[in-house]
Amino acid sequence: MLLEIDNLSVRYRTRRGVLNAVDDLSLSVARGETLGLVGESGCGKSSLGRAIVGLVDLVGGTVRLDGKDINGLTHRQSLTWRRRMQMVFQDPLSALDPRKTVRRTLTIPLDVHRISTSAERHERVDALLHRVGLAPALAGRLPHELSGGQRQRVNIARALSLDPDVLICDEPVSALDVSLQAQVLNLLADLQRERAITGLFISHDLAAVSYVADRIAVMYLGQIVEILSRDELWHHAAHPYTQLLIDSIPGQGARLPTPSSVELPNPYEPPRGCRFEQRCPRAMPVCRETPPALSELGGGHVVACHLYDDIALRPSSAGKTWPIHEVTETTASRSI
Ligand code: SF4
Repeated sequence: MLLEIDNLSVRYRTRRGVLNAVDDLSLSVARGETLGLVGESGCGKSSLGRAIVGLVDLVGGTVRLDGKDINGLTHRQSLTWRRRMQMVFQDPLSALDPRKTVRRTLTIPLDVHRISTSAERHERVDALLHRVGLAPALAGRLPHELSGGQRQRVNIARALSLDPDVLICDEPVSALDVSLQAQVLNLLADLQRERAITGLFISHDLAAVSYVADRIAVMYLGQIVEILSRDELWHHAAHPYTQLLIDSIPGQGARLPTPSSVELPNPYEPPRGCRFEQRCPRAMPVCRETPPALSELGGGHVVACHLYDDIALRPSSAGKTWPIHEVTETTASRSI
């Protein structure tokens, strides 16, 4: 695995108390793979992305890149290792310096890391612009002179300028018009294929995640509740929360009973048992008292839900189909 996250926790102190935004979370991403991370707003997925690239402090756990624990490095060591991981942020305008032209924005990372001569940098910036579908004539413009889609392409070009091994995209299309979302998603999918970049694609939009990701991790209230492949998603999603996310895609039609509540529980005082229990249409008495652990269903499909307590431990569960959810991928793709 290229990127390994073990028992990672992120905590914020606020006026209301201590918020465990990411709670003892583990996952890994193989070289060249794109892992989608999906969940509702406030579930901690952006905090996880920021913790991986060192923008927020961890209160526990490790982040390993190529086997190297990148916490606790010196500033100099950290520069080298963190160069290998780049991030594309949600708001393309605020991620850019309003006083810097596109060319300057794309040249700064090359200057900082002393990559190429100045003539080579000019060519390299032109090549980057070309690759993300921007005309070199835009290089002299300031961010406010670009459209939203063009700004996000500049952000993607900046992230690619250092040839990263890992690209973390945090809601990269949610601030864009619907017409631009598909263009940027197609660009990211093309880039990941052609450069074999390892990706972490964070979004609240399950359809968008499934468009670019090989595997999908579903997050709820700071924890992973299911990890499954894109192929399994539409037909074999096992966790009731994943199924509700699928049902919420427009045109999908609800296939589960209506959830008991649509409100997220108080994140400052998460439920003692399963954190989804208050909203789960399949909740059982055990769910209120005992948190479910992640269990393997087979083929790398893991789920944290008491519905599978008996099934999960059996070796014969590999390849089993879960009869709970059946939808067509075509229907889901239409909503992108
Ligand atoms: Fe629902 Fe219980 Fe599974 Fe939680 S553990 S998702 S409450 S069935």
